[in-house]
Amino acid sequence: MKRSIFSDIFSGYFLIILLLSSLVLFFSFKTIRNYYIETLTTNLKNLGIAVEKDVKPLIDKAEFGQMDALVKRLGKKIHTRITIIRPDGLVLADSEKDPKTMENHKGRPEVKMALRGKTGKSLRFSVTVKQEMLYVALPIEKDGKITGIIRTSLFLKDINNLLATLKTKILQIVLLVVIFSLLIAFLFSRGLSQPIRKLATAAREVASENFDVRVSLRTNNELRELANSFNYMAEKIKALFTDISLKKEELNNIISSLQEGFLVLDKKGEIILCNDSFKKIAENDTPEGKLWWEVVRSAPLDELIKRGLEEKKNLIEEIALGEKIFLTSITFIPSMNEISLIFHNITEVKRLEKIKKDFVVNVSHELRTPLTAIKGFVETLDEEIDTKHKHYLDILKKHTDRLINIVQDLLLLSKIEEKNVELNIEQVNLKSLIGDILVLFENKIKEKGLELNLALDDVPPIKGDAFKLEQMLINLIDNAVKYTDKGEIEISLEKEDKYVVIGIKDTGIGIPDKDIDRIFERFYVVDKSRSRKLGGTGLGLSIVKHIVLLHNGKIDVESTPGKSTKFTIRLPS
Ligand code: ADP
Repeated sequence: MKRSIFSDIFSGYFLIILLLSSLVLFFSFKTIRNYYIETLTTNLKNLGIAVEKDVKPLIDKAEFGQMDALVKRLGKKIHTRITIIRPDGLVLADSEKDPKTMENHKGRPEVKMALRGKTGKSLRFSVTVKQEMLYVALPIEKDGKITGIIRTSLFLKDINNLLATLKTKILQIVLLVVIFSLLIAFLFSRGLSQPIRKLATAAREVASENFDVRVSLRTNNELRELANSFNYMAEKIKALFTDISLKKEELNNIISSLQEGFLVLDKKGEIILCNDSFKKIAENDTPEGKLWWEVVRSAPLDELIKRGLEEKKNLIEEIALGEKIFLTSITFIPSMNEISLIFHNITEVKRLEKIKKDFVVNVSHELRTPLTAIKGFVETLDEEIDTKHKHYLDILKKHTDRLINIVQDLLLLSKIEEKNVELNIEQVNLKSLIGDILVLFENKIKEKGLELNLALDDVPPIKGDAFKLEQMLINLIDNAVKYTDKGEIEISLEKEDKYVVIGIKDTGIGIPDKDIDRIFERFYVVDKSRSRKLGGTGLGLSIVKHIVLLHNGKIDVESTPGKSTKFTIRLPS
């Protein structure tokens, strides 16, 4: 059973009061009784001393009859029993009884004491008068010898009567004190428990989100301080709660107004939060609380979410849901062990991209035949034209070659950019591949007076598409030769951990810092007129990057403008 503070405090006080009053009653009765008996003993002793002077001569003269009459008279007058006893215990006179009928008193404790010359005292039940009595015995001496004993005694029934009256009076007072104390204890307990109860009720209110509750106490102690602190706390919580609610609302508004689908999943994959856009994507009005795979069925999304939850990192992927394509990004939230997903609809972008790609491929295809025809005719003309007009034909030839290059590069790029481009995987010996390619550049290198340095290790063959890797190396070596006027070209091949590393370094014009991040973009050239003059298309490095990625490799470039450029390709071996 739940106990209240009030009942705890009050019952504590009740017990203390009860214990104290019982102790007071017990000890006061005992003390009063003892005190009475002491007083009566002294009185009886004094009485004995007073009677002694009348009795002593009668003992000496052995006037026992007269003595008996004397004690009977005196005893009646002073309501005290007087007994005169001979040292051998024989009762000589008694104020209540006929001494002759009385038994020998030598064995009585008070008599025994008196016979030893002291004042004897005894409290006991009298067999003679059949009542509880207090006895005091004094020795009567003559010439240092005990000639008799005076015993005075009182019925204790008087004391008991007196004590009974006193007991009732004390009981009444104690009862009054107890009632009064209990009343004070009641008020005090209530005074202490009421503020605590008030505080507890207010705390419950705050817990049920009623922050307007305040506690006012009339007391002026620590509890009041507690109440003031409580009120201050409630005020602060209210302000904080309002602030949080506002922020939450603001956040909810932002999330719901997002065009992108937004979703938060806990570590078990349960949907904690989502916005309207996501509900539209999922075609489900109440996805909250469900597991995500119950709401959206997609194997690639399955895979992506599982990876996000397991690997605990941010991921981004294009995922098709029905007719639409979404750029889906997963962000891991470490503090909550949750992941958030954003679905950005890129269907239209993808459609336009495809139209553009198809257009480029179609145009390239359409241009290829006429360009080849033009090139053929130009070459035929070259043999027949006079030297005066040869210059024009050279220009025509150069531009035709450039156009053919662009068309070829565009077709190649479109091919390798296709999502599911197939690689003709075979064992490729990079050292011999580089050797074969270098033959193509021998003349050009010689013409330009460049030095060729090779540091080719015997690396193990790698798995790759030989044709594409060849294209990649041609583009890089072609650039190195194209953009270097003097100095050397250094080609290295070595094994490093799980990779085969190809290095192509030149001492050419270099690439400015601001351009270095963009050289892999399609059609990006640093110096347009120079690139054009050298027959560049701006597509070479895009093709290189795609081929490297298709082989799960990495490409890095370091360059010092005016000094050198180095491309490093790492391919898994
Ligand atoms: P391009 O056909 O113009 O060479 P690329 O895509 O191959 O196109 O290269 C892009 C640009 O990067 C080039 O125009 C050139 O400015 C720069 N570049 C590439 N390789 C080198 C190099 N080895 N040295 C200096 N610049 C280079």
